[in-house]
Parts: sequence; structure tokens; C-alpha cells
Amino acid sequence: YHAKLERDRISTYSPALDVNSVDRLQLLADLRVAIDTGQLDVAYQVQVDLTSGHVVAVEALIRWRHPQRGPVAPDDFIPLAENSGLIAELTSYVLDNALAALAGWRAAGHDLRMSVNLSTRHLSDLALPRQVAEALARHGVEPGALVLEVTETGILSDPARVDVVIAALREQGVAIAVDDYGTGHASLGYLKRLEIDELKVDRSFVSDMRRNHQDFVIVRSTIALARDLGLRVVAEGIEDADTARSLAELGCDVGQGYHLGRPTSAAEIVARLSDERRAAGAAAAARIVPGR
Ligand code: C2E
Ligand code: MG
Ligand code: MG
Ligand code: MG
Repeated sequence: YHAKLERDRISTYSPALDVNSVDRLQLLADLRVAIDTGQLDVAYQVQVDLTSGHVVAVEALIRWRHPQRGPVAPDDFIPLAENSGLIAELTSYVLDNALAALAGWRAAGHDLRMSVNLSTRHLSDLALPRQVAEALARHGVEPGALVLEVTETGILSDPARVDVVIAALREQGVAIAVDDYGTGHASLGYLKRLEIDELKVDRSFVSDMRRNHQDFVIVRSTIALARDLGLRVVAEGIEDADTARSLAELGCDVGQGYHLGRPTSAAEIVARLSDERRAAGAAAAARIVPGR
């Protein structure tokens, strides 16, 4: 009897999948602990004006340093959190940290925006606009300085509710960006229906656009589309100077990527902003003092 059970188990479940799901359960249990014991952190990646070279915005990216496994990628644990109800806690953790950091930078005179990623689930959560409003008020950040990044998959998930949630956020003055633009299988109808502020061209088109003609055409027409619709366009995944230059020539407003700055700590962002200010001050002084 036991042998039969064993045989059935083996024939019904792929051992690899089984191990995988046990692993996922363990990771999920660990994630609950991580939230309570401070293993989570937020990294920040700059977004740069491709014409002036100045930092104009920062994207908050969650980080998890697991005590045994080391760093776990967001793509590996965000989906787990989404399917377990932990995502609300994760998002409010990131939002709080990001807004606290932003409030400090803005108080120091750096006129930046902060982008925070929303999970697909949140977009149909009618309580979200109020949570966001409360977080902004708590940190004294004006709504226009916050950009919430959503994906096309999120927009498609529950259109009736998503429309209400996005409209309520925009009513408050919060900006909405479509992240990973071009990868989500959504028809373009939402660009007409929803008030969107920003398109982020997906890294998969940007990284190879100088070598792959299809990618180049997709990036070029996305930039043109965004500009004609009056949207800000941000290119993700810029890994070299030539790509940054091409994008600027195509009229792309803002860039993000390893070439412009890797995700890093809030302290490193502050150092970069101070360097930028010092350089701008020196340039202004050089213009005023003749002969310098
Ligand atoms: P995303 O929002 O599209 O974020 C950009 C991702 O690309 C980040 O990966 C970033 O580190 C990476 N990246 C930036 N520049 C380059 C580059 O030049 N080359 C390459 N190869 N990669 C670059 P990360 O931090 O691993 O995040 C992956 C995804 O996880 C994010 O994609 C976002 O969808 C999700 N995520 C991250 N943080 C959060 C969060 O706080 N909440 C939610 N809901 N999702 C998050
Ligand atoms: Mg993003
Ligand atoms: Mg993206
Ligand atoms: Mg992504």
C-alpha cells in the first residue's frame, strides 16, 4: 500500500516542481520574517535628463538581503508577495522609505521626483488612493513629486476598478507612469482612456537598439508616440554612452540605466546630488568671474 502511494505520488508530481514549491513556501515564510526583522531595504536609481545630464528623478527598488541566500531578486519574491497578501506591506514599506528620503532631498533644495513601483494587485485596490494620500501627508511631500509606476498587465487586470483607482490618484496630483512599456500585450486604447503622465520604454528594446534595427524602430516610434501624446518618455536599461546619445537625438526626455547610475543607497544619491550642485556652482562662478 505504501509502495503504491509512493508510486502515485511520484507519477503525479514532478519531483523538481515539488522541490520548487517547497522552496517557494520556505521563501514566503522567510519573507514574512524579513519584513519584521529589517532584512528589506530600498535602493535608489537615478533618472537623468538626457539633454542637461542632471538627475531629475529617482526610482525606488526594493532589496532583500536573505541571511542564508544573500540577495534575492525582486522578480523572485514580488510575485510570491502578490499571491500571499504580503504585497500591501511591502508597498507601504517602500513608499514610506522613498517618501522619507525624498522629503529630505527636496528640503535640501533638490527638485526631484520619486518613482515607486505598484504591483498589479494594487491597481484594483480601492483603498490605495487614500493610503497614498496619507503617506504623502505624513512626509509632507507634494503629490506632484510622486510617480507611481504601473504595468500594462496591471492596467488590464480589472479595467473597471483600475480606471477608478488611477483617476483618484491623478485627481490628487500623483503622476502615473506605464513601466516596461511595449511588453504587456495591452492594446493602446488605455492611452486614450486613462490619463497617463509617463511612458517607460522597456529595457528589452533599449539595451540593443544600436545593433538591432527592430529595437531601434520600436524605441524611435515609442518616443514619437509619447511626445505626440504629450507624455514624458523615460528609457530604461541604458548601458552605454552611445545609447544615451542616440536616445537624446530621438527626443527622449529622460534616461535610466547602469551607464547613468546603478541602484544604490540613499546616502550615495545624496553625495551625487551634492557633487552635481557643486559642479553647477563652479560653472556659474566661472561665468561670473571674468578670465576664469
Ligand atoms: P522595473 O520597475 O522595470 O525596474 C528596473 C529594473 O531594471 C531594476 O531591477 C533595475 O535594477 C534594473 N536595471 C536598471 N538599469 C539597468 C541596466 O542598465 N541594465 C540592466 N540589465 N538592468 C537595469 P530590479 O531592482 O531587480 O527590479 C526588478 C523588477 O522588480 C522591477 O522592474 C519591478 O517590476 C519590480 N520591483 C522592484 N522593486 C519593487 C517594489 O518596491 N514594488 C514592486 N511592486 N515591484 C518592484
Ligand atoms: Mg519600475
Ligand atoms: Mg521597467
Ligand atoms: Mg521590469
